[in-house]
Amino acid sequence: MNLTFLGTRGEIDARTRRHRMHTSLLVSYRAANVMIDCGLDWLGKLKRVDPSAIVLTHAHPDHAWGLKQGAPCPVYAPEKTWQELRHYPIKDRHLIKERTPTKICGITFEAFPVEHSILSPTVGYRVSAGRACIFYAPDLIFIHERSAALKDVQIYIGDGATITRTFIRRRGKALIGHSPVRTQFTWCQKEGVHRAIITHCGSEIVTGDERKILASLCAIAAEHGVEISIAYDGMKLTL
Ligand SMILES: [Zn+2]
Ligand SMILES: [Zn+2]
Repeated sequence: MNLTFLGTRGEIDARTRRHRMHTSLLVSYRAANVMIDCGLDWLGKLKRVDPSAIVLTHAHPDHAWGLKQGAPCPVYAPEKTWQELRHYPIKDRHLIKERTPTKICGITFEAFPVEHSILSPTVGYRVSAGRACIFYAPDLIFIHERSAALKDVQIYIGDGATITRTFIRRRGKALIGHSPVRTQFTWCQKEGVHRAIITHCGSEIVTGDERKILASLCAIAAEHGVEISIAYDGMKLTL
């Protein structure tokens, strides 16, 4: 399995050369290239990616609005995401059921509900092909059924919207927002995942001194037995 971080920017105004495009991951296996998420930055720019299929985590602007004018390939999303995108001129629509492994171009995607937004219910994906297995959740407060989601995954790819500050708000009984990176390391430790990559970078990373941030994050992660990196646009990885 090959991973290409097409974009690593969260829903912020700042952008740099390292974090120019809205967060998106290209998962490649054999001849297939499946793109996870397609935010507004990707509007009109899908030709150069030429994905075999697109899979969506939720309908927020930085994850789905690049499909406003339709898609050049099949698109897969959970039902609640489709409800929000019902007016989009996407012709080839496919439903992904939560907790049901779905094969897309030879790559298996299993959606796990994650807490993040009330208006735009969100999932993270456990993605596997051959012997490789990752978990990808660019926006989240926590993963429902976390043990099943992270069991035997080689890399946890998580939400870099905030490093230590908390971006969690209460709305009635629900929580909305993002968990700090630091909290996500504790999940990796509990579930025996030893490698994490931070994407969906917030302003702390994008406008800050990334080397310094990485050094302090590495130290925190090491305490949890986790090796980490911060993804940047164009970063590639083979599993
Ligand atoms: Zn986002
Ligand atoms: Zn979001």
